[in-house]
Amino acid sequence: MTIQTAAAPVPDARLLAPGAVSPAEHDWLGDAIELAENNVAAGGGPFGALIVRDGEVLARSGNRVTESFDPTAHAEVMAIRAACSRIRDFRLTGTTLISSCEPCPMCITAALWARVSRIVYAADRQAAEGAGFDDREFYDLLATPVQDWPVPVVRIAHADSDVPFRSWSTAHYKIEY
Ligand SMILES: [Zn+2]
Repeated sequence: MTIQTAAAPVPDARLLAPGAVSPAEHDWLGDAIELAENNVAAGGGPFGALIVRDGEVLARSGNRVTESFDPTAHAEVMAIRAACSRIRDFRLTGTTLISSCEPCPMCITAALWARVSRIVYAADRQAAEGAGFDDREFYDLLATPVQDWPVPVVRIAHADSDVPFRSWSTAHYKIEY
């Protein structure tokens, strides 16, 4: 007699309760952590991320900052770019971002821009800080008034500042995002 075990159903990312974690997600999180570990062995940063949808891994990536001389090449951003490129859409509605570590402010915003439906991570910003990364510092900075930042962020009134928006509002070919 053979015992057949049905594969655990993979719930739609949009239907999962925020605190619920599916067995598949737990496995994918393990994959992201393994990816992060292998990335270190390959000379990269200790981060890995996957984009999954309907039980399928659309894309996966490690951190590529140092090898590509790109400070935005975090694992989550790279996975988002690869997933979008694969499905030829700039929206990742219905997908889950699975990351070995809590996404930094840039990556979590990238996920919001991409309309990712769910974000799952393992290590938190404190753990990243312990390893020498600035995630928590940037989260704290974003919570402080911009006038108090060490980096000057200056608004300059310019007569033409609204021109691009006016062009956009009348453009016939604009694609909303
Ligand atoms: Zn990031």
